[in-house]
This record gives sequence, structure tokens and C-alpha cells, in this order.
Amino acid sequence: MFKVPPVTEQRLQQLLRAMPKAELHIHIEGSLEPELIFALAQRNGVPLPYASVEDLRQAYAFTNLQSFLDIYYAGASVLLHEQDFYDMARAYLARAAIDNVAHAEIFFDPQTHTARGVAMETVINGLHRACADARSELGISATLILCFLRHLSEASAFETLEQAQPLLDKIVGVGLDSSELGHPPEKFARVFARCRELGLHRVAHAGEEGPPAYIWSALDALKVERIDHGVQAMHDAALMQRLAQDRIPLTVCPLSNQKLCVFPDLKNHNLRQLLDAGLCATVNSDDPAYFGGYINENFTQVFAATAMTARHAYQLAFNSFEASFASNADKRVWEHRLKETFERFVEHD
Ligand SMILES: [Zn+2]
Repeated sequence: MFKVPPVTEQRLQQLLRAMPKAELHIHIEGSLEPELIFALAQRNGVPLPYASVEDLRQAYAFTNLQSFLDIYYAGASVLLHEQDFYDMARAYLARAAIDNVAHAEIFFDPQTHTARGVAMETVINGLHRACADARSELGISATLILCFLRHLSEASAFETLEQAQPLLDKIVGVGLDSSELGHPPEKFARVFARCRELGLHRVAHAGEEGPPAYIWSALDALKVERIDHGVQAMHDAALMQRLAQDRIPLTVCPLSNQKLCVFPDLKNHNLRQLLDAGLCATVNSDDPAYFGGYINENFTQVFAATAMTARHAYQLAFNSFEASFASNADKRVWEHRLKETFERFVEHD
């Protein structure tokens, strides 16, 4: 591993913004800014229960996962046509490019849309076209991960997979999200087994609000390759050892954890402990429009709160590439760019 020299605190904040990184935990519906929700509502003639953009922004003062999900699904109701999904993904990718995201693996929740009568191909084709255009126009690589909503049934997940089957060349994997408590991963063991047979990568939200037991079953029953969140692993020494030994990546989302009161004060966030214990932790934005910041805000705020160093910054960016489902050739290119960025910053010190 590249030996990272120390940099001043002020330079570290600049370095965090400038360094190339991958974002592996971003729900595209959670990137919908109030302005875009209003514009799409107007374009599609969808009535909203908010009088203005400001009104809607104020409604973002939720306090736990469920109250967040309620407003999240209300916001998604304005998405009807392929162009709407394109515009949403394109807006996120343009924002991510500014934060020097080199590669994004984007979650989407098809059941939120198919339940409203929107066709699966409308969703996937719109998102996929935005990813393709972003590659040529913004120089950012982007792929899609289809997430099953865990509060819905196994039968609904199977039906969703079937609808997506003709479009599988446009997604890289599957995930599991939405309300965690009361919906353990093993509920979807058979769905994930089928996805594995289809050659899809697998990730799952586990150990955000739920117990370490959910992380164990995501690994053993779902055979996932990454854990989304996973911060509750800290309470289980044997699990920490397993995650470190097998280099199972955790996609950690500091501002989301703060907003949903998993760590009400960022000073107490355990990202630094996870890294220091040798885990392949990464930093991500989760639902940036709702949680107060895109990926660079997550980096700068958690670093300021927990006094992490340039060494941690390098490790986190390096981990994000290692943990991605990109090709080894792409990973080497990004790692090289990462090293160059650090060398440039140190030279100027
Ligand atoms: Zn999430």
C-alpha cells in the first residue's frame, strides 16, 4: 500500500474533495431534490401535498427510518415516463462528477414504480440511458443495482425479478433495502439464490438499525458480496473478525446515520474504528437529497468530527474501488489516479 504522508487539516479537507472515489450506496430515488420533484410534478400533472419547494424541503425533518421512507415514496410518485428516470439519474451523475466520483453503482427500487403502474422497462431504460450518456459526456462510469423492498413479500420480489429478466444486461446486481427491523435477510434467501444462478452480484442492507444477526444472515443465507451500512457489526467481535478476514466491504453512510439517529452525533460515529479494525469500509451518501449532503459532504463532515487523517482518506478511496464490481483494469486506472492526487497534494505542502 502507498505510504501516505501527513497533510494539514485544511489541506485534508481539499484532498477529500479532490480525490477520485467510487460511490457504492446511493438510492437514485433519494437523489431527487425538491426542485426536480416540483418540475416533474408539473410536467406530469401530478398533484403534490406541498404548496412550494420550500414547504417540501421543510418536510424533510424526519427522525427515523420509517418517517423518512414515508416522504421518500411520496417524492417518487412524480416519476412516470422514461425521460423522468433519465433526468433523475442524469442530475445525480452530474452532481457526483463534481465530487470527483469516478464510478457509481446506483440502487433503484423498481417496486416503488411498478406498484404505481410504471413498466419495468420504463424505469431501467431511462436509468441505463443516463448511465451510458454520463460515461461519454461526463467521463464517469456508472452501473445499476436493482433493489428488492424488504417490507414486501418474497413473491413480490420474485415477480420483480421476472419482470427484469429481459433487461438483465443493463444491471450489474441486486440489493435489498427499505425498513430493516422485522424483515431479516433470510426472508429473501430463495430470491437471492436465483439471482446468483443468473450471474448477478448481490448486496444487502444489514446492521443499520437491525442487529448483527442480520449481517450474519445476509452473508450466510443471501451470500452477499457487500454489506450496506453494517455499522452495528461493532457489537459482535466474531462478526468483525469475519468481515475483516474475508474483506467483506461495508458501504457506510455517515450523514444518513446521523439524520436517522443511528449516530445522532457524528463525533461518535464508528467509521474510524471499523477502518482501524481492518474492515473494508467505504463512505457513501445513501439518499443525498434527504440526508443533507452528497458524498464529499459525507467525507468532510465525518473527518472533521472524528479527527481521521490522510491515511484514512486514502484507505477509504482505495477501498471504494476495491469493493466495486468494476473490472480489474478499471480499478487499476482509478487507483493510479488516486495515488497521483495524493502525491500532488503532498508536493504542494
Ligand atoms: Zn441505503
